[in-house]
Amino acid sequence: MPKFKTLDDLPADLTGEVALVRVDLNLPMKDGSATDVTRVEAVKPTILELAGRGAKVLLLAHFGRPGGQRSSTLSTSMVVGDVERVLGEEIMFIPEIAGPVVAQSVGILGPGDIGLLDNTRFWPGEEANDPNLAQAIAAHGTLYVNDAFSAAHRAHATTEGLAHFLPAYAGRAMEAELKALDAALGSPQTPVAAVVGGAKVSTKLAVLEHLVGKVQHLIIGGGMANTFLAARGVNVGKSLCEHDLAPTVARIMDEADAKGCTVHLPYDVVVAKEFAANPPSLRVCNVHEVAEDEMILDVGPTAVEALADVLKTCRTLVWNGPLGAFETPPFDAATVALARTAAALTLEGSLISVAGGGDTVAALAQAGVTDDVTYVSTAGGAFLEWMEGRVLPGVAALEA
Ligand code: ADP
Ligand code: MG
Repeated sequence: MPKFKTLDDLPADLTGEVALVRVDLNLPMKDGSATDVTRVEAVKPTILELAGRGAKVLLLAHFGRPGGQRSSTLSTSMVVGDVERVLGEEIMFIPEIAGPVVAQSVGILGPGDIGLLDNTRFWPGEEANDPNLAQAIAAHGTLYVNDAFSAAHRAHATTEGLAHFLPAYAGRAMEAELKALDAALGSPQTPVAAVVGGAKVSTKLAVLEHLVGKVQHLIIGGGMANTFLAARGVNVGKSLCEHDLAPTVARIMDEADAKGCTVHLPYDVVVAKEFAANPPSLRVCNVHEVAEDEMILDVGPTAVEALADVLKTCRTLVWNGPLGAFETPPFDAATVALARTAAALTLEGSLISVAGGGDTVAALAQAGVTDDVTYVSTAGGAFLEWMEGRVLPGVAALEA
């Protein structure tokens, strides 16, 4: 486990401290209020703990893509109401991120009070990771807490730069995420299985290349499986398929072989002539029996049973990407079935299961297992970069 400091490394009483806390408040909005406050709920424990221990808490967050300029519709003041409701605390909105207005506001805040600074991306120095900006922000705090894993793949002033000017700590959400990811791929209990699905191999090449050297079982599903099957000479009809990637697939298969990683491809599939809900042409067949005018839209039931048996022999599972076109029934069947197997094994205590990715999170929710797997990462891009084995600058800065 990489070493980083957490809130446990701080004194119990934080009266007199000013904590600059990077959070993810990039909430999906409709008609001026958030449609989903999961991100606020994620950082709530860190904020309330720091405030409860007596620190003045200054929240730093980006909101949308203002491109280095002020924009009235992208001010973090838009989310103040939602954040207050979730925290159950009043917060002071501060329309700057550094300078006299911030200094004055910090003077007004009492121990345990919470302030929210404006959209960090209004200042070009944020995305440029300008040390002058980081230093100017740091001047208002006595410690830096990063609780935004989802922004940790960016080296920005408030996700990375601040750690060079203040003692830096992982917040509770960051800590939980790093522990879960470490348990999944850092120092996992073996054997490890990875499920990689989704639409296209081309978007996940780096993930596949990293995983073949890390896991004992690589389960390929979704449109990606079509590309793998086609590369091995299977006729996939009019399935979504990247035929030009055949040499790449061959290289990944060779690498898997050399590293002792078994690659699992479906041997039965669910096909249809048209992509629609419950199409009349739907049928299940062996991968070698797909007709020219059919497309593969899900992994078949026999293959799912075999994959469930693979999971039963594993101690750790990391999952990104649905096994089929899960948004359209019944092409969610394989994803739902395998997710339920993973959840059951996790509840039994035989499997540590970590999943992430926008559509994967939605698919697990659809299967009703979000709370039954060990950890679900909502970090999107940061989760994928971590699956690629990349060093995330926001995390590296905490470890320094
Ligand atoms: P994530 O967001 O979890 O990283 P992706 O975005 O890579 O996942 O992939 C999800 C998408 O892949 C979904 O929209 C799903 O419909 C699509 N998909 C999965 N299997 C197939 C398939 N056989 N044919 C076409 N699309 C598929
Ligand atoms: Mg997606």
